[in-house]
Amino acid sequence: MRDGEVRRRALWRVAMALLLAATPFIAGSAVAGPDPSPSVAPGPQEERGACPRGYVALTFDDGPDPVTTPQIAAILRAHDARATFFVIGTLAATHPDIVRRLRVDGMTVANHTYDHPFLDQLPAEDVRRELQETNAILDGLAGPAPVLFRPPYGRTNATVEAVARSLGMTQVLWTHDSDDYDRVPAQQVVAAARRAGDGDVLLLHEGLATTVEALPQVLADLRARGLCSGRIVPSTSPRRAWVDYTGDDRTYYYARTARW
Ligand SMILES: [Zn+2]
Repeated sequence: MRDGEVRRRALWRVAMALLLAATPFIAGSAVAGPDPSPSVAPGPQEERGACPRGYVALTFDDGPDPVTTPQIAAILRAHDARATFFVIGTLAATHPDIVRRLRVDGMTVANHTYDHPFLDQLPAEDVRRELQETNAILDGLAGPAPVLFRPPYGRTNATVEAVARSLGMTQVLWTHDSDDYDRVPAQQVVAAARRAGDGDVLLLHEGLATTVEALPQVLADLRARGLCSGRIVPSTSPRRAWVDYTGDDRTYYYARTARW
């Protein structure tokens, strides 16, 4: 992907983050509930044997969003599905009840830094602050501090990985990019999801009507193919990811997809 393209997308995302941070708080359900445990019993889909082909992790970045996060969660619930939400610390602080509700609904809430910087351009102490401040906001919001994090734009390096490891966190990238942030039609998001198979991680974003529009079909297609939306767990085995910010668009991360 071209530098200009990356920069344009970066600017969009920063602008979106600032816009969302300025959005007036909209109250949601403040009901506290248990955190989704990694060892929970099989979900409804599992009990019906609906996942013979395995698990695709659906991941939603850049929330919580007062409009799309409740919409996405409602669609997931209607399909007996769950997903991982990589949230931005500043937005989680603005919309804590939306984060609580995600966890009450059994979703995984993960760390997408405090204010969405290029982590690969920060010194280690700033990287550490980005992760720790976000975890401090998320800790206790109907669950513990996350162990999964995703660097904004997939921009990472050895320093970022080392800081994350020192905090007991696992970096999660993606294998399939829906390109939803490029404002592609919903059918293109659906088509990207159709290319994902067992163990794959699909990148999606908050704040986009087309992503919400595509999600029911994405979930229906997964089910039709014998796949379920899976959770992400740390792994000792490296997995190859697809990242688009350098010429060499392959890198590795240590996580895998499993049943909820
Ligand atoms: Zn992001």
